[in-house]
Amino acid sequence: MSFWLVEGAYLVASALFILSLHWMNDPKTARKGVLAGVVAMTLAVLGTFLTPGIVHWAWIAGAVLVGFAIGVPLSWVPLTAVPQRTAISHAFGGLAAGLVGTAKFYLWQGEPENLTAFRTFAIVAEVILGFLTFTGSLMAAGKLQEVRFIPQRPVTYPLQNVSNIGLLLVAVGCGVALVFKPVALAFLFPPIVVLALAFGVLLIIPIGGADMPTVISLLNSYAGLSAVAMGFVLDNKLLVIAGALDGSSGLILSIIMCRAMNRSFSNVLFGAFGQVQQKAGVAETRTAKRETPEGAAQVLEMASQVVIVPGYGMAVAQAQQRVRELFDELQKRRIEVKFAIHPVAGRMPGHMNVLLAEADIPYDKLIEMDDINPEMAQTDVVLVIGANDVVNPAARHDKSSPIFGMPIIDADKARLCLAIKRSMNPGFAGIENELYFAERTYMLFGDAKAVVGDLVKQLQGASGLH
Ligand code: NAP
Repeated sequence: MSFWLVEGAYLVASALFILSLHWMNDPKTARKGVLAGVVAMTLAVLGTFLTPGIVHWAWIAGAVLVGFAIGVPLSWVPLTAVPQRTAISHAFGGLAAGLVGTAKFYLWQGEPENLTAFRTFAIVAEVILGFLTFTGSLMAAGKLQEVRFIPQRPVTYPLQNVSNIGLLLVAVGCGVALVFKPVALAFLFPPIVVLALAFGVLLIIPIGGADMPTVISLLNSYAGLSAVAMGFVLDNKLLVIAGALDGSSGLILSIIMCRAMNRSFSNVLFGAFGQVQQKAGVAETRTAKRETPEGAAQVLEMASQVVIVPGYGMAVAQAQQRVRELFDELQKRRIEVKFAIHPVAGRMPGHMNVLLAEADIPYDKLIEMDDINPEMAQTDVVLVIGANDVVNPAARHDKSSPIFGMPIIDADKARLCLAIKRSMNPGFAGIENELYFAERTYMLFGDAKAVVGDLVKQLQGASGLH
């Protein structure tokens, strides 16, 4: 009886995991997707509880409590810290897989018939992927959180890639030997663990902070693959399915991010992207034109079409509610307002969509980059709110720029550009933005929330006149 209950719970959970990913494709169904994922995970845990011969339930209950104690505070982090929070989740996933593999390997030393070549292979894959995901994800989270003793810039040294790959090959070589003689060569297991832990650190060291979100997504896929291997070790189909979904979605997300930045995987993993930033961040001598909120409000009032380009600065300032108020003020004046969404604006895919949805901006006003760009030349005013790299025209023509080739939102093609940011400091790629020095661009310096709030006040103050 309990066999059918467990299999039934796993089957429904698998279907819900797939539906969850499908629903998360669209902002309209995303909440349903999250709910489906939660229900699926609950069913998976309950199914495991019911599995005959499973470790005493008290261990699982204890683990659930520890999970809650760590997970609940982690969920309180601000949206801007979600990439590093996600990396910490992957670190735990990788650690769990690595530990399960280690436990099984040593448990089965006393029952060698269980250590078939296939199972040993799965254990080795699980342990290598799990432990490298653990240390790699911790390093990635540390870099993004700007932890003091972890350098942000890429750390490179001669023969780095060769020595890193060599290290991995030694671990894989030990693993292959273990597959043939899992008991006699058991002494090779600890070196595999140590090499995998070291490889995770060394993999992340040469990657700059700017590429961390892509790397985190890639680590997500490693964690998923280690879960697949764990599923084979434990003979658990649900783990194989959920791990495969996790692994493939992480990989697809990394590919989407690489495409949106016009970068290749090898460039992200071995390109030491942040080093270019150091050279490129040279002080600028040109001056940008300033505008006041009063003047900017007047310009906005006269427009028939306004395109708002949100970026990371809007997230930092948590300006989305003010942006909603501005949207309402402009709509009242029958001005057409659209939001131009760049696929890598902010620090994670969908960052801007989430923030704008939080402020109840209608989804149909959020226009993808490729659809909004043809309209830019007919746009009266483009209002850039805390975006920088994603509107930098250097990406189109400056071959020496680290963002050369990255598709951008053509803010420079609008009739007039208003840009809100606190200073002339560069964005994530660490390079100056020629848009801010362009003939038709006016800067509104200040925190995005305060400046947009000022614009709203100006418009509200003037509303009696219109
Ligand atoms: P960005 O290039 O990082 O620029 C953000 C700008 O916001 C900065 O220039 C900053 O200037 C301004 N800012 C910060 N805090 C602010 C505040 N409180 N008020 C007003 N302005 C503020 O951001 P982006 O244009 O959104 O581009 C995203 C970058 O991240 C791209 O380089 C992209 O490749 C990279 N990236 C994104 C993802 C992703 O999935 N989204 C993944 C990997 C990499 P001030 O300091 O002068 O205010």
